[in-house]
Amino acid sequence: MSTTSSTSQETIVALATSPGANGAIAVIRLSGPDALLICNKVFKGKDLLKQESHTIHFGTIRDGEQIIDEVLVSLFIAPNSYTKENVVEISTHNSKYIIERVLSLLIRHGARAAKAGEFTLRAFLNGGLDLSQAEAVADLIASNSASSHQIAMQQMRGGFSNQLKQLREDLVHFASLIELELDFSEEDVEFANRDQLRVLIMKIHQVIAKLIRSFEQGNVLKNGVPVVIAGKPNVGKSTLLNALLNEERAIVSDIAGTTRDTIEDEINIHGVTFRFIDTAGIRHTEDVVEAIGVERTMAKMKQARLIIYLFDPTQDAIADVKQQIQEVEALNIPFVTIINKSDLLSEEQRASFAELSPIYISAKQQLGIEELKDELLNQVNLGNINTDDVIVTNIRHLEALQLTKQGLEKVLDGIDNPITSDFLAMDIRQALYHLGEITGTVTTDDLLENIFSKFCIGK
Ligand code: GDP
Repeated sequence: MSTTSSTSQETIVALATSPGANGAIAVIRLSGPDALLICNKVFKGKDLLKQESHTIHFGTIRDGEQIIDEVLVSLFIAPNSYTKENVVEISTHNSKYIIERVLSLLIRHGARAAKAGEFTLRAFLNGGLDLSQAEAVADLIASNSASSHQIAMQQMRGGFSNQLKQLREDLVHFASLIELELDFSEEDVEFANRDQLRVLIMKIHQVIAKLIRSFEQGNVLKNGVPVVIAGKPNVGKSTLLNALLNEERAIVSDIAGTTRDTIEDEINIHGVTFRFIDTAGIRHTEDVVEAIGVERTMAKMKQARLIIYLFDPTQDAIADVKQQIQEVEALNIPFVTIINKSDLLSEEQRASFAELSPIYISAKQQLGIEELKDELLNQVNLGNINTDDVIVTNIRHLEALQLTKQGLEKVLDGIDNPITSDFLAMDIRQALYHLGEITGTVTTDDLLENIFSKFCIGK
């Protein structure tokens, strides 16, 4: 499919609500020049062509004389709609049979079944959204925590694009001044003050670098903080995971080393998602199956942004604990030291571990779990995300930003080791090109196809 060839001459139709969901109502959406006309052919009630935009009408959908459903029809007349085209939303009763009948009826009367993401693609092509906003629509729909929702909402409302748009305009201004110099090349004039240009490029460079840095934070917020629960076999890792998840998901057993495979799961603490990776524990072992587990544990620990390291004070002497801590420290990843099985701990034993400033918990009796959760939030330091900050969460944006940054560095280099105006102009245009890729000022069919094919049909 060539994405951009979905000419807006065609009127498209799809189920906008989730297929197979249990709700009372389903919404079927039409978009395109003939949306009202097509709906009017099967709708009995008021003449839709004579109604105002943003009005709702009760009536029936009929196939010939047969009534298929009683519906509500909402009208959005171009350009005042999501796609900027005529849009009709038909709310039917949520029956698979009714939905199929209504869809095929509308198709029979001239609509075409929409492709994945085609409504949002049209919104983009018609200027209703820029590309990063369109992508945020997908993120918003997929968001499952307060923080991922906030980021997507912020991006959809244009936070990201606004910031880039201004920078881009300033840079375009300079590029055109430099290009003007080319017309006067005989006279050796400088319309674009090089010092001012350097200041502007450095300013843009700073903003871009900040956006690039925000990616790590953004990624964590969007996908969750990867946390590894580690420690020797039988220290209570599975029990802790269960306590945190409040469900019996990992296999708990008295036999050392039974949690052989890795299990991933998530919890949400004050809007931040933590992705737990339960592990087989670090233990030097000859057992082959177990060895795979140990290798995986090391690999997982390296992927983690935070490690919860568990000790069993009834098994481990302080010297052993200290040695394990050293091993974990070598990974250079933040970690929390946890003394588990505190229910079995005497005051004296407790005192012997005090110098490690651990958190004491009992995974089995669910003691100290809230304290641990607070510490997790503390460690990732994301508790108070400033939602006004623009955060990059999209790998495509990150790549474009990195290329823009490289481009800007080339321009700076060209100012400092003077190159001719035509080369400088070319370098600036190159940086602009990558900047434009983010918001969709510059697009290719491949890029659009790639983005919109990831949407579901009806979005
Ligand atoms: P893993 O190998 O580290 O995953 O350890 P498990 O979670 O399978 O626990 C090993 C054993 O320790 C099980 O018998 C658990 O019931 C027990 N256990 C775990 N946490 C606690 C705790 O806080 N207190 C006590 N008394 N026993 C615990």
